[in-house]
Amino acid sequence: MEELRKPIGRRSLLKAGGFVAATGTLGWLGALVTGVGTGSNQRKRARWVKTVVRPTLGETNADYKRFSGFDMFALYRPLKTQHEGTGSFEAEQVSKAKRLIAWTNEKKPGFSLPDQKLSEGAWTVMRSSRPGTGLLSWTRTPGRTSTEPSAQRYTASPEEMANTVKAAARLYGARLVGIAPMNESYVNLQVPRQDEKEKDKDIVFEDVDVPEVTDTKFVIPRKMKWVVAIAIPMDIELLARTPTPLGDAASALGYSHSAFVVSSLAVFIRGLGYEAIPCVNDTAQSIPFALDAGIGELSRLNKLVTPEFGPAVRLCKVFTDLPMAYDKPVDFGLVEFCKTCKKCAEVCPSRALSFDDEPSFKTKGPWNNPGHKTWFEDSYKCFEYWQKSGSACGVCLASCPYTKGDQAWIHEGVKAIASIAPATDGVFRIMDNAFGYGKQHDPEQWWTKDQPSDRRG
Ligand code: SF4
Ligand code: SF4
Repeated sequence: MEELRKPIGRRSLLKAGGFVAATGTLGWLGALVTGVGTGSNQRKRARWVKTVVRPTLGETNADYKRFSGFDMFALYRPLKTQHEGTGSFEAEQVSKAKRLIAWTNEKKPGFSLPDQKLSEGAWTVMRSSRPGTGLLSWTRTPGRTSTEPSAQRYTASPEEMANTVKAAARLYGARLVGIAPMNESYVNLQVPRQDEKEKDKDIVFEDVDVPEVTDTKFVIPRKMKWVVAIAIPMDIELLARTPTPLGDAASALGYSHSAFVVSSLAVFIRGLGYEAIPCVNDTAQSIPFALDAGIGELSRLNKLVTPEFGPAVRLCKVFTDLPMAYDKPVDFGLVEFCKTCKKCAEVCPSRALSFDDEPSFKTKGPWNNPGHKTWFEDSYKCFEYWQKSGSACGVCLASCPYTKGDQAWIHEGVKAIASIAPATDGVFRIMDNAFGYGKQHDPEQWWTKDQPSDRRG
């Protein structure tokens, strides 16, 4: 896939001319520190992305424990009932459904029938993937890979193994790939039931040779000490149409691509004679593994921001016993930038994101896992807005100054300077606004003008 590119128009350049003049020296300096590096976890990475010993944000304390595995989708209904009484959730769903029908009939931009069905199509692969079965199977499937793990075992140095696995992952559609050590505390306690007839199942680590899924538990072999952490870019033209059902297709497609990439990579690894467990959002927290693998830094969004695609990525991972060289966390100045930027918090329609100057250990609700330092978000407010807007929003992702996905000199220079000179961060935030980034694009134009399939990552 090609790099995302968005040419800067003449008008935008003129508009930002004053800032460019004011920061001309910085831009020149930026050019000096910009360039393609040879970071071990990516084929090409800019020089201003430095490796560090531990992630810049996300430190843990004694309260940090394995997370329950229950996300906002499961928590929202009981919380809504607790806040607003019995029947409030059901009433909200009825009024949301009516609103969506009315908006479709009115042809509200971004809510037409094709806009809504685009997401449904994009979800297809992810919605046919469940932890432990089908695409996300934890075991060898006769006909797809040898059922004998050691029938043919490929061996090479840990560095060569890492390169081989990363090359395969990139071929399948990953854009950023890193190798992190397994950390059992990042793995969820349970796989929540998928429907009323099922039970929640515990996730346990045992000294066994192969992964196992039984009626009561998911078993991860303790010998699985390597995690392939992967980022899949989201389509920024769709993301620029949030909050609408049309914009939702960016997330949906990111999830389906994730399921495709991890399932393909798991079959590849099994074919080399090792075990592999493919996961999307299920089974474990993707963000801490991605931090340890150097995919990006933790941000004010309490999400990962990558140097190349900002927060506009979906994360997924594969656990394996295939020995590989580990990557290191990275620092590109994001945490300092987030302290002054606050753009995501300002544009959030539900005021769900933190305005605090400094990150802290103070959680906002049961959706947060305590014991790590970050800017915690109010997921209840966020989810409530999803119901009101009839979309999965994503305005915060679209607005981040790092969500450009392009290599235009101005952005590379700006990001390079931000990585070494936090005092200039306010200027860069102003420049980002001047260029008009983060503004919603016309949903109707997507169908005639801005279809992006050849520019996605
Ligand atoms: S998805 Fe929307 S409502 Fe939720 S935090 Fe982001 S901007 Fe706010
Ligand atoms: S919008 Fe600004 S504050 Fe928010 S994540 Fe991006 S850089 Fe950080």
